[in-house]
Amino acid sequence: METDVLIIGGGMAGGAMAALLADTGLRVRVFDGAPEPAAAEGEPGLRVSALNEASHWLLRSAGAWQRLPEERVCAYTDMAVRDGDGTGEVDFQAGEAGADQLGWILENAALVCALYETCRERDAVHWETGVRVTALVREEQGWRAELADGSTRHARLLIGADGAHSRVRDAAGIPAPVRDSGHYALVATLNTERAHGRCARQAFLDSGPVALLPLFGDGHQCSLVWSAPPDEIERLAALDDAAFARELTTATGAWLGELQPASARAHFPVRELHASDYSRPGLALIGDAAHVVHPLAGQGINLGLLDAGVLAEEIERALNRGFAFDHESVLRRYQRRRRGHNAFMQNALRGFQFVFEQRAPAARWVRNTGMRGLNQLAPVKGALARQALGRDGDLPARARPRGATRNAHSDDAEGA
Ligand SMILES: Cc1cc2nc3c(=O)[nH]c(=O)nc-3n(C[C@H](O)[C@H](O)[C@H](O)COP(=O)(O)OP(=O)(O)OC[C@H]3O[C@@H](n4cnc5c(N)ncnc54)[C@H](O)[C@@H]3O)c2cc1C
Repeated sequence: METDVLIIGGGMAGGAMAALLADTGLRVRVFDGAPEPAAAEGEPGLRVSALNEASHWLLRSAGAWQRLPEERVCAYTDMAVRDGDGTGEVDFQAGEAGADQLGWILENAALVCALYETCRERDAVHWETGVRVTALVREEQGWRAELADGSTRHARLLIGADGAHSRVRDAAGIPAPVRDSGHYALVATLNTERAHGRCARQAFLDSGPVALLPLFGDGHQCSLVWSAPPDEIERLAALDDAAFARELTTATGAWLGELQPASARAHFPVRELHASDYSRPGLALIGDAAHVVHPLAGQGINLGLLDAGVLAEEIERALNRGFAFDHESVLRRYQRRRRGHNAFMQNALRGFQFVFEQRAPAARWVRNTGMRGLNQLAPVKGALARQALGRDGDLPARARPRGATRNAHSDDAEGA
């Protein structure tokens, strides 16, 4: 098959990109180095994401949301953010923003599998797994990809969805300064004594944020993301299960009663980056290949999915007007619509981290008094809840509830 659009990376961003382009008439190819995605089963996977409403509608319009195993998705209705010593707290309920839920927690692997299955049913998309791209070469029109087995593929438009260490970004010579956040993140699945009640909780300790994300099942399992300086995370990772459980329960002020690890623990450095450009002639970057943000507010893939939605919208707009879908102006428009928003979010998260890292008593008093005040202000809380839902900003039409009904693959969209 000839290829119009070649997507390197079949993670959540690349997979969504392919599914969103499936109806455009373009011939799309995805290369991913990982093995074929398999349906999630058994204990929850360690890597999960909180997806917002905009991501939900986008994935639904692409036909992938409907393929997620319902019993492995947890819709959460509440969010609670607390200072580590419990003197400041803000709670949000979905109802404050006129929504049924604030978002959904699901396994990354389940979403990739749903996207893969969606694409496999579409003639226009060819998704190859276990294929590692080793080099990318600019040609007169488009790019040539060289694969580990020595073969090559040409496409007019190359999309880099190959994650933080993007080879596509490097091949295009796009700088992406890396910032060390000063944190490592430790992830694990936990059993909780008290039911999570579909509430996503985050406690800001002196060392960094601890998130307890509600999981599917009997209401007594959460996904833990604990961010702290590297030596602290390495110490926590080395504890035996009983000592780890004790420290975690104490650190969270027994918010959900006693916590017990229900999985192995994994940890890794939290590094942020932002590409100086999202496009070059015949090439665009999306998802973590373009930007990596601190996981503290669970925004990374929500931003990546919006990249895919906006790029697909700009490509479709060009096709509908009879313009070249890979024209520089199309890619520039994509960059204009997304880069500022992602930079804003990255800076906002850094600001958040800074505010919660203040240890001086006066600074803590101001912050915690502010949190208590905010908790009484319904309009401000409503605005923050709408932001969490992903309703603000320059959304692609398919990320809005109305947009979902336009797509032939979302017949049941109204019922969601
Ligand atoms: C602890 C933690 C918690 C998080 N929680 C949330 C959350 O709650 N909500 C949220 O929105 N975000 C969250 N994030 C962020 C989110 O996980 C990332 O933004 C997301 O995984 C990025 O997806 P991606 O598809 O852009 O890249 P990746 O997931 O990195 O996928 C890249 C793909 O490219 C492939 N690839 C790479 N190189 C090549 C090559 N040379 N050839 C072929 N294939 C290649 C890989 O196999 C991979 O499949 C969290 C992140 C962390 C670290």
